[in-house]
Order: sequence, then C-alpha cells, then structure tokens
Amino acid sequence: MPSEFEIIRRYFDRPARNAVLGVGDDAALLQPRAGAEIAVSTDLLLEGRHFSAGADPRTLGHKALAVNLSDMAAMGATPRWATLALSMPGADEEWIEAFAAGLFALAERFGVDLVGGDTVRGARSICICILGEVPAGQALRRSGARPGDDVWVSGELGGAALALARPGIAEVQRRLTEPEPRVALGERLRGRASAAIDVSDGFAQDLGHLLERSGCGALVHYDLLPKCAAFARMALPELERRCVLAGGDDYELVFTAPQEARSALAALARETGPALSRVGCIRDSAPALTVVDAQGREIAVGRGYDHFSA
Ligand code: ADP
Ligand code: MG
Repeated sequence: MPSEFEIIRRYFDRPARNAVLGVGDDAALLQPRAGAEIAVSTDLLLEGRHFSAGADPRTLGHKALAVNLSDMAAMGATPRWATLALSMPGADEEWIEAFAAGLFALAERFGVDLVGGDTVRGARSICICILGEVPAGQALRRSGARPGDDVWVSGELGGAALALARPGIAEVQRRLTEPEPRVALGERLRGRASAAIDVSDGFAQDLGHLLERSGCGALVHYDLLPKCAAFARMALPELERRCVLAGGDDYELVFTAPQEARSALAALARETGPALSRVGCIRDSAPALTVVDAQGREIAVGRGYDHFSA
C-alpha cells in the first residue's frame, strides 16, 4: 500500500503554473495580479451525505471541484488556485487515480492549480478550498439587488433534482453528477449584474438568500423559468414544480441586473451561452419571493435543502 507521501506525489503533485510555489512545502505561495481582490470559498462533500459509497470516483473529482468553481462564478471571480483536503478509509489507488483524473480534467479546463492540501485516513470526505481573483470592487455580491432590477437565470433548472427523483433518465443524470460551472458567464457579468448567487440548494431558497441580503422582494413568473427539457414529456406538474423551484444541485446562476442591461445580456447569451432567461423583477417589499403562474395565481414555494432541518 502506498504511503501518504507516495499518494500525494503520484496523484496530486502537479506543476503549478499560476503559483510561486505549489505542492511540497509547508504552504503554497500565491501572487495575486495587481489590483485584484482574492475571492475564497470552501465546500465539503461527505460520503453518505453528498454522495453514496459506490459513487463513481471520476465524476466525484469533477463535482467536488465544480461546486467550488460555481461559487467563484457566482462572485464574478476568475478561479486560480485550489487546495484539497481528502480523507479516505484506505489507499485504494484505482479510486484515487480516477478521482484525480476527474478533478484535474476540470482544473486544467479552467486554468486552476492545485497548490496544496492534506491527506488523511478516515471516513471518506472531500474538502476543496478555492481561491480566485476579481478586479477590486467588482465582485458580484448577494446584496446588490435594487427595486426595478430584472431577475435572470442561466441555463435550465430542475435537471439535477429530476435525476435524483427518477434515476432512470439518462439525459439528466449528468446534470447531477457532472455539473458545468458557469465561470465564463460570471466573469462577463462583472459590471452588468447588480447581485448574483449560484443555485446549489434550490432556486427559491437561493434567490431567497439574495433577497434577504439585498433587503427587497421579488416577483417571478413560473412560466418564464427555464426548465430542463425532460419535464415537457413527463407531464408531472407537481414533480416539475418541486424540482424547478426547490431542487438543488443545478449550479446555474441567478442574478439581478438593471433593466438598461437587457440588450447587453441578450447579446452576451448569444455570444457565450448558456441561455439567459429573464424571469421576474425585484420589488420594493419585504425580502420574500412570490412566484405566480400564467393566471397570476401564487404558487406555494417549497423549501430547498437545509442540512440541519431536513
Ligand atoms: P504538512 O505536514 O506540512 O501538513 P503534508 O505532509 O500534509 O504537509 O503535505 C505535504 C505537501 O503535500 C504539502 O505541500 C501539502 O499542501 C500537499 N498535499 C497534501 N495532501 C494533498 C492533496 N490531497 N492534494 C494536494 N496537495 C496535498
Ligand atoms: Mg498534512
């Protein structure tokens, strides 16, 4: 069985392109670009809670990094460095190799260096800390939405939750296991969006956090929400609403922008994808979300995921 240090050297020690010093010392050394602020975020994935014991290690490597990249996207930050704290019951090299392959494939695609971490024996968990850069003062905060702003959503909602609810549907499975973080979109929203958040716990809950921080309300039209195409065939409206409004794990961006930004945002969607849908507006009211159907009737919004009240 390889030692801790052999595991690190074999699977996680890769040349760092963006760092002064990467894996191998007591700490990494990073040099931010002039005028940049550093955005930092961390996410912990625990076996039995976020993934099952038999989960495919390659997609797990992808997802562990993807959820962190999504946080950078939601801040409008450019991801640059990551650390990985990994605990696992033993040195299963097949597992580690596949996990590292999934993680590094995504890291390379987004120009992120793995610059350090920790490797210990224990119940399987994956904790990534990501660092990114954003020009000073330009980060997309949750707190910037103002009455009159439009509410926008990228891509489609509900696919990941549908994959969980109906495991047989192949076309949505990847939405759950290999989400695509909206990094390029986040970067392009700097200077255009007034506030942003990524959908990790469910559209309604995550938009709710943004409203709370911004101190205003929102009116959203259910029919305008972009829904995963599989729902149209299924004709199960209850399931669809639950997945679209309260389903987590989509990693799309929900953001607000002044009405003057409409044509710039439409052009942005045409140029870079994903699709951008304008789904409602911010109101001068208590920080609550109201969702209405085509007839203007209010739709009850279920709660999204919460680790401590589930
Ligand atoms: P220390 O004892 O100072 O914590 P370690 O022996 O744990 O150092 O780690 C040696 C080096 O390998 C450090 O640079 C650390 O950041 C890095 N490292 C450890 N585990 C990982 C990992 N899973 N991924 C990337 N780098 C790692
Ligand atoms: Mg250590």
